[in-house]
Amino acid sequence: MANKFYNRRQFLQTASLFSTALMASLASPRLTRASDEPVEAVVIGSGFGGSVAALRLGKAGIKTVVLERGRRWTIKPDQNTFATYRNPDGRCAWLSPNAPLFEESPIDIYTGVLQRKDENGISVLCGAGVGGGSLVYNGITYQPPRQTFERVFPSSINYDEMDKIYYPRVRSILKPSPLPQDILATSYYQSTRIFLEQANIAGFPNGLLDMATDWDIVRQEINGTKSPSAIIGEIWYGINSGAKKSLDGNYLAQAEQTGNVEILPLHIVTEISEVPGRGYRVSCIQINEYGVTIKSISITCRYLFLAAGSMGTSELLVKAKAKKTLPNLNDYVGQGWGNNGDNFGTRSGLPPTNPGQGGPATGRLEHLDNPFGPVILVEYPTWNAPEGTLSALGMAIPRNSGSFKYDAAKDAVKLNWAADSPENKKLLKDVEYTYRILDRKNTTFNRQPHTELRLGSHKRKNQPTSMNSATITAHPLGGAVMDKVCDTYGRVIGYQGLYVVDGALIPGSTACTPPSITIAALAERCMEQIIADIS
Ligand SMILES: Cc1cc2nc3c(=O)[nH]c(=O)nc-3n(C[C@H](O)[C@H](O)[C@H](O)COP(=O)(O)OP(=O)(O)OC[C@H]3O[C@@H](n4cnc5c(N)ncnc54)[C@H](O)[C@@H]3O)c2cc1C
Repeated sequence: MANKFYNRRQFLQTASLFSTALMASLASPRLTRASDEPVEAVVIGSGFGGSVAALRLGKAGIKTVVLERGRRWTIKPDQNTFATYRNPDGRCAWLSPNAPLFEESPIDIYTGVLQRKDENGISVLCGAGVGGGSLVYNGITYQPPRQTFERVFPSSINYDEMDKIYYPRVRSILKPSPLPQDILATSYYQSTRIFLEQANIAGFPNGLLDMATDWDIVRQEINGTKSPSAIIGEIWYGINSGAKKSLDGNYLAQAEQTGNVEILPLHIVTEISEVPGRGYRVSCIQINEYGVTIKSISITCRYLFLAAGSMGTSELLVKAKAKKTLPNLNDYVGQGWGNNGDNFGTRSGLPPTNPGQGGPATGRLEHLDNPFGPVILVEYPTWNAPEGTLSALGMAIPRNSGSFKYDAAKDAVKLNWAADSPENKKLLKDVEYTYRILDRKNTTFNRQPHTELRLGSHKRKNQPTSMNSATITAHPLGGAVMDKVCDTYGRVIGYQGLYVVDGALIPGSTACTPPSITIAALAERCMEQIIADIS
């Protein structure tokens, strides 16, 4: 499908005339763009999909504005950039009076990094800020195995092509690597050693995760030249030592270096609409760091890239369909949402694990021949977990899907997820089966020296047990799913110049793995095609 319906040179001439006139009328540098100033491309959101789009557009010489609702988070030498679990404040939450995780504690309202959206049937966690989900993520960079990938994605997305071209392209920029052995050997990473040892005993393929982590900075945390952060399990509110390789330091930095990409933080997009013959109008409000509106603006663009995450992109599209600002959207908009088969598990009754330390995440276990359905577990620290426990995120393949609905009275969009449906309950069972094997195979009978002296052969049973739950997800996916709302290159059906390049494009699952690298790799695949279409 070629996208050459407009005359790009004509557009550039108009934009340049507008820009010259505007600059001449301004004595000092502007804080925001002027309303209705045309730009070639707008990207909404600066997470994985948005960062890839921005870099590829910038490299292709296409003038691009990235609108991001959150602020920039630059690591400061005082190592007090982010709030911590131990001392939460406004910086941990997106415009909320409460901390989003652990015990509810009141905080000041601020444009913090993590949003918890309590939807119908599930809570969803999302990042907010320049870098999107990469500011809050663990950094797990996990390419799905072929077997699960091919179960989830349309056959027109060739695994070999993804494996040889697009996943390596993302890795070449994120530069992930596994936990080095010298760090693994420290007491901080005892939980990793036990996780891997128990996976081995249970006969599951396992290993260290590829992580977007600067392990040299983790070494500095260990040797005391940086304050402890990752090593004491501080992750989801940001890592103050700078050990997290978030997108603002790689993809987005490189996009800005092209000279063609301008990132506008603290700009919330409220509505998108078609401007026949010209492209799209993006309406947004500029806010200050406390969420107070400074002004409303709109920008007109030829190419509009939706990358506000599964939740943000779905909301904008569902609203645009309901309000007929994009009347050609089809009925699949807002459908096909999934939680990536996520569930959070805790194992207890284990030997000492040092469970609050050793971040951002380290070990993985694959149970792909689970008779109920493939399962992957990834291990991560929980700062306040009791001794003798381990925390893991389990991922299976969801069997049914949620949908978004527009509420005209509230002018709001809500997600509906049938948490108690038989399919979703079965999903928990897939993962429970893996835990059961893990627990059974690691049950040991320990001789107790004192008992043995007096009573002979008495033994104490060391019995691990596991619990998991799926009331919350950090991996929202779908809402503008490929082969339904868009084609597999993210081109929205019924429109030219309108694209979805983030988690909304994905059919509810990234095949038993955390989504970031798959979102980015698919965005790379989309962008290669889209740039070819429009150049
Ligand atoms: C706590 C946590 C830990 C995680 N750990 C991992 C991990 O280790 N590995 C992994 O692979 N994945 C992880 N994830 C998931 C991963 O972060 C997401 O899958 C990924 O970020 C989604 O990419 P995206 O491009 O779809 O959207 P996002 O990265 O969410 O980016 C969307 C961006 O759009 C912005 N936005 C939203 N609405 C608007 C609007 N209306 N106007 C302007 N801007 C808007 C948001 O602020 C955000 O910056 C984690 C997620 C969380 C929450």
